[in-house]
Amino acid sequence: MIIVTRISQLNRQRNKIADQVKIGFVPTMGALHLGHESLIKKAVSETDFVIVSIFVNPLQFGENEDLDQYPRPLEEDKAICERLGVQLLFAPSSSQMKTMSRETTMVNPPQSMISVLCGRYRPEHFVGVATIVTKLFNLVRPHVAFFGEKDAQQVAILNRMVEDLKIPINIQTCPIIREESGLALSSRNQYLTVEQKREAILLNRSLKLVQNAFNGGEKNVNHLLSMLIQQFNYHPHIQLQYAQIVDTKTLQPLTTITNSALMAIAAYCGNTRLIDNQILTVKKPIIAIDGPAGAGKSTVSRRLAHNLGFLYLDTGAMYRAITWLVMDNKVMVSDENAIAQLVDQANIELLPSDDLTIPVTVKINQQNITKEIRTPAVTAQVSQIAAQQAVRAKLVQLQQEYGMQGGIVAEGRDIGTNVFPHAQVKILLTATPQARAKRRLLDLQNQGETNIDLAKLTAEIEHRDYLDSTREIAPLQKAEDAIEIITDDLTIEQVIDKITTHANMQN
Ligand code: AMP
Repeated sequence: MIIVTRISQLNRQRNKIADQVKIGFVPTMGALHLGHESLIKKAVSETDFVIVSIFVNPLQFGENEDLDQYPRPLEEDKAICERLGVQLLFAPSSSQMKTMSRETTMVNPPQSMISVLCGRYRPEHFVGVATIVTKLFNLVRPHVAFFGEKDAQQVAILNRMVEDLKIPINIQTCPIIREESGLALSSRNQYLTVEQKREAILLNRSLKLVQNAFNGGEKNVNHLLSMLIQQFNYHPHIQLQYAQIVDTKTLQPLTTITNSALMAIAAYCGNTRLIDNQILTVKKPIIAIDGPAGAGKSTVSRRLAHNLGFLYLDTGAMYRAITWLVMDNKVMVSDENAIAQLVDQANIELLPSDDLTIPVTVKINQQNITKEIRTPAVTAQVSQIAAQQAVRAKLVQLQQEYGMQGGIVAEGRDIGTNVFPHAQVKILLTATPQARAKRRLLDLQNQGETNIDLAKLTAEIEHRDYLDSTREIAPLQKAEDAIEIITDDLTIEQVIDKITTHANMQN
């Protein structure tokens, strides 16, 4: 690891790095703990050359704050950086950074963001942060910079700053690292006595308590805040400075939470000021749509997901992706053991598509196969692969993992009964065999086929329905709590309207 303390040395080292090398940057004030380590580890794993800075920035300390006491264990910090694989450590002095007086050009983020939360009590803090981060960005010229969600206001302000000033740096945030007790790690925890450290757990505990109430359905900010404040009333050793629930991006106060919010607090434990926060996110529902072939499931699901900004969980595309993988590896479709092994190691990703003509972008083992899975060769083999137990088990598990994040529309035959039995919205989309036969007839005629027997088509559909509802694996069944929509006389828009209305009622 190279260590530099002067700007001229940093410039020299920085100029040696080739253009195509991806540079990751972790700015810190030192006294490194596991929270900082998590940022550095992420930088090491996601970029090619990691630069860490250690600089206790006088511009971000107020007059009566702890600038002089702030811990500066430089030797220990160097050893941590070395151990984690940092390539370059920049540890300048205040005179190098010319921050001894405020007689310098300052970066002024929007007043609305720097005067709320911590900014109300530390009026010059975020101007000092924005100024020094800009200066470091200009010196280090990284591609990606890593910050902790522990300082959520800082992250929101810096995100706004790079956006407003068009600074070509990608900001990555990392989750808060905590002690087992829940106390968020901070360089300032060193100031706490053993007793104070035990009391400080209250910050996280009260946030969790309110988060539980929120998850239980309480979305009114005043109610949530009074619950939070009440927790501190019982603990005379900890003085709450503020508790606020604000928009995660603009940091402006909210009255109800409809999407997501930042709940942030600051409290004094003795003379030590501690901060903590929790993001509150309204979980978007899972919409499960089951039904027989030809009822309009996939068109409806795709458009509905697009309208709601949800992911269309195209389960068919997942089975197609495995089929493509089997064929690409030249494995026999009947070789269930070899297929089970392939499936076990496969990494399938579905990414939302903005284009309504493309259901989803599909990747397998990082390779984009969105087009390849729609070929007739894949279509011909997919049902045989989908019937295999190992394939199904793995894909159902993957579908359920996608479900954990909410905000998906999934369609199939057993989505509401088997894959997502706890889905908030369940729909059985059906149409009479006669109506589906007529749609099929039109499709075939549009493809240039003539001489089609409608009665025969209807009989085929009835037979397929019978097989689908009696098959051993994934039979089509109506979930008890599903609502049935018969699409015979409905347009696609009308079906989508009905589902959207039902979903809104469930929320
Ligand atoms: P500081 O040294 O306090 O300026 O922090 C440097 C970076 O580490 C900032 O991006 C912080 O948000 C981040 N950080 C500090 N404490 C934690 C923590 N407990 N978990 C995750 N990141 C943290």
